Amino acid sequence: MALMKSWVESANSADTEFPLNNLPYGVFMTADDEAHCCVAIGDMILDLAVLEDDGVISVTDEPVFDLPFLNEFMDAGKPAWDALRARLMDLLSEGGDDTLRGDAELQSIAMAPRVGAEMAMPFVVAEYTDFYAGRHHATNVGTMFRGAENALPPNWLHIPIGYNGRASTVVVSGTDIIRPNGQLKGPGDEVPRFGPCARLDIELEMGAVVGTGNAMGQPVSVAEADDMIFGYVLLNDWSARDIQAWEYQPLGPFQAKAFGTSISPWVVTKAALEPFRTSTPAREEPLLPHLQEPGPMLYDIDLAVTMRPEGAKTETVITRTNYNQMYYSSAQQLCHHASSGCAMNSGDLLGSGTISGPEKHERGSLLEISWGGKEPFTLDSGETRSFLEDGDTMTLKGAAKGEGYQIGFGDCVGKILPAVKV
Ligand code: MN
Repeated sequence: MALMKSWVESANSADTEFPLNNLPYGVFMTADDEAHCCVAIGDMILDLAVLEDDGVISVTDEPVFDLPFLNEFMDAGKPAWDALRARLMDLLSEGGDDTLRGDAELQSIAMAPRVGAEMAMPFVVAEYTDFYAGRHHATNVGTMFRGAENALPPNWLHIPIGYNGRASTVVVSGTDIIRPNGQLKGPGDEVPRFGPCARLDIELEMGAVVGTGNAMGQPVSVAEADDMIFGYVLLNDWSARDIQAWEYQPLGPFQAKAFGTSISPWVVTKAALEPFRTSTPAREEPLLPHLQEPGPMLYDIDLAVTMRPEGAKTETVITRTNYNQMYYSSAQQLCHHASSGCAMNSGDLLGSGTISGPEKHERGSLLEISWGGKEPFTLDSGETRSFLEDGDTMTLKGAAKGEGYQIGFGDCVGKILPAVKV
């Protein structure tokens, strides 16, 4: 797949994350301080509420874009997503429909510079589920806690393990994260105490955004699940490792992951990622038929994480990996989620699980990079880290690389603020 040329010149650069091939959806604050649905094209934001109001685009009888969330559009389903994408391609391509290209006044109302624009949460998160579906991450963590012989739990190769997280604390990139307080009990402590997390971590993940749901009691196939997914975001599943260690048995993480989850401002559609489809790795144990994939369900997306301490001039790349390292795809996770009859809804967010590659420089959490704090790493500023300090800024980056173009998500950024005094 090659670059598709747009009359918006900045969209034709090999460096932009937002060529015509991408057209990711988001929500931005207009000059009048209203939240409108939009797409990114090169250095610009295209206000879909303006185009809809002018009758240039249309999805349903009711307006779906003059809203502070994408859920109404997502709920309209795949035929509506495909039709709007085709219409926007036509309006923005070099030689397409000139309704917008030929109307400077409409452009001045419907388009705004992307740099400096304030982005809001792109959709209302109905519910948030997080998985544990990265083979290298699960092996690393399991080795640290249970030894190499018992690294993977017995169910791991048969089901994508997950837990129900909190939708209420999923936030858009740029939102500060306050260090959580929690109950802590170290290996040498006789009794637990309450205080600030001392082993604060990130998890590099992708988030699948569910566009259309299933009825309660009605499971879906992997292929149907894939059609229900609207798109993907970068996701940082902030984690308090010391709180987690004390609380996690027997029901899994609770407060350790409930204080903040950051997502990128742009939802990249599955349509934009189609050329980058790739398969999950060979199965070590055959999957039961209902979880088998009918085709490639993962995507080839380069991922990186940078860290910048307070006052440091530069950010240090601390890991580089790829989404293709996952053992289970989001479609398999969604199929598994609905397999009992659990109803999934438009706006549900599925965290992939931490994405780590096989090598040390490909690990997707500080827990793994510093091997439980035993191997601190050095930043370009000369400072060392095992876990996050107050003032640290963490940035997730992701891009699918085509020939002469790339599909990006916008950075997923969060800065750590000191804990609330207790
Ligand atoms: Mn996670």
